[in-house]
Amino acid sequence: MSIASLSAVRRVPAAVNEPVKSYAPGSPERAELKARLISMATERVDIPIIIGGKEIRTGKTGRSVMPFDHGHVLADYHLASPEHVQQAIDAALAARKEWANWPWEDRAAVILKAAELLTTTWKSTLNAATMLGQAKTVYQAEIDAACELIDFWRFNAQYAQDIYSDQPANSPGMWNQLEYRGLEGFIYAVSPFNFTAIGGNLSSAPALMGNTVVWKPASTAMLSGYYIMKIFEAAGMPPGVINFVPGHAADVSNVVLHSPDLAGIHFTGSTAVFQSMWKTVGENIANYKTYPRLVGETGGKDFIIAHPSADPAAIAVAIVRGGFEYQGQKCSAASRVYVPQSLWSEVRDRTIAMMREIKMGDPRDFRNFMSAVIDKKAFDRIAGYIGDAKKGAKVLQGGGCDDSKGYFVEPTLIETTDPSYRLMCEEIFGPVVTTYVYPDAKWHETLEILDRTSPYALTGAVFATERSAVREATSALRNAAGNFYINDKPTGAVVGQQPFGGARASGTNDKAGSKSNLTRWVSTRTIKETFVSATDYKYPFMAGE
Ligand code: NAD
Repeated sequence: MSIASLSAVRRVPAAVNEPVKSYAPGSPERAELKARLISMATERVDIPIIIGGKEIRTGKTGRSVMPFDHGHVLADYHLASPEHVQQAIDAALAARKEWANWPWEDRAAVILKAAELLTTTWKSTLNAATMLGQAKTVYQAEIDAACELIDFWRFNAQYAQDIYSDQPANSPGMWNQLEYRGLEGFIYAVSPFNFTAIGGNLSSAPALMGNTVVWKPASTAMLSGYYIMKIFEAAGMPPGVINFVPGHAADVSNVVLHSPDLAGIHFTGSTAVFQSMWKTVGENIANYKTYPRLVGETGGKDFIIAHPSADPAAIAVAIVRGGFEYQGQKCSAASRVYVPQSLWSEVRDRTIAMMREIKMGDPRDFRNFMSAVIDKKAFDRIAGYIGDAKKGAKVLQGGGCDDSKGYFVEPTLIETTDPSYRLMCEEIFGPVVTTYVYPDAKWHETLEILDRTSPYALTGAVFATERSAVREATSALRNAAGNFYINDKPTGAVVGQQPFGGARASGTNDKAGSKSNLTRWVSTRTIKETFVSATDYKYPFMAGE
């Protein structure tokens, strides 16, 4: 059956940021979420692979547990074999034939419907899955699983419209057009554990632009990933457009990266994994039908630098919120801090006082500010860094680690006298902030040290009240961060307001949730149409005098 397109220049609803709910005692959202947390804790979900809309259960499973109570299993997820990965690629390629030909407005409608479902019927489920499965407090879950994902979906629809509207100039007698084709092949989306919203965005942004996707979610964010798939289905996403493929990362990647139809990778995660995938793509470059687009947002070693004119109270709050919220497991989390000698004692004492107040535990107890880190591997890595600091630096506060029930690491503040100390350079991805105190007179030199200390360049913040210091830091640190904050913590970017991404070893800086990102998922075709074709090869200048 042929389906006619609508004869209309359609416009998607203007995107606005989803308001963050308070979850204050007595609020309806609190009651609804608490009820869902109770019901979810009694469930044990059996998560299938979803290929071409069909659920597949292989019987080889992994477990999703509560990081703060690792004996509690929330779900079992089925692991894909190499054959399933190939089936997912085939399903994506088959679905592409129709999906790429849909009017973009209809693709956008699916994504906009997903946003609406998430803001209404699905919100408590996705927030609860993020709290229980990834150990986020209610606020951290709300700004991620609900608001950021809704924002990604709404703003992307608007950005897609902006891209499609961008058309070239014309000369008399002709019409020039740009067609923004989806890429020829399929896209491989690989998402991290730490933001539910990222899984929803990595998979859907290429789909919105007419691509089909093989999505490998993180094993430690499986429950929220599965519910995102359910939202896509409920929103009317056709089977095969996004294929959900839990599995051992290396096994899945091995099949995907060797497929001649690989058209792009949409990755967020650690630098080492992205570099290894890039290397494999490089080794196989002659085997692909097209040059795969590689988009990766990766690690960080995010900084706060304070000028002697800064407000010590503001710096301390930025350290505590920027360094310890979500247990420091944000790619943007503050983890190295440069403080002038003159402010140090006040900054240190204020920070430690707040740290002593912080409650850590089960996120279902809303008084907790922190919970557990994601898994045993993360716990051991972070504990290793703290052990190192106990020998090579000074642990000012925290330092305790206990994985008997959950993977708990105390918020930890460390002081070093060596600005190139390991903990000032390497990504720890946990609640550990290392400070270096510099002599006030060495502000300029400290900016230079900061700039060259770490391979990363994701986020960073300067605190100063003197404008000249703000100007100097903004200029000296131009390449040290893709998201730069003035007198604010370096975390908490909002879609549509602070497009997010970093350079150097932190990624390709295509800015998630922005027009720049969406342009990576299209391959432009230029179409020139001449209304009345030339019928004589001779030009006027060739005529005789
Ligand atoms: P990770 O690199 O361990 O895992 C990310 C994803 O890659 C997961 O789905 C994982 O299963 C998969 N993976 C692991 N090994 C693989 C392989 N060999 N081939 C293919 N895929 C593989 O990262 P994580 O622990 O989930 O997330 C934390 C990291 O993500 C941190 O480095 C953090 O800075 C980064 N991150 C960056 C941003 C950003 O926007 N720059 C945002 C969030 C997280």
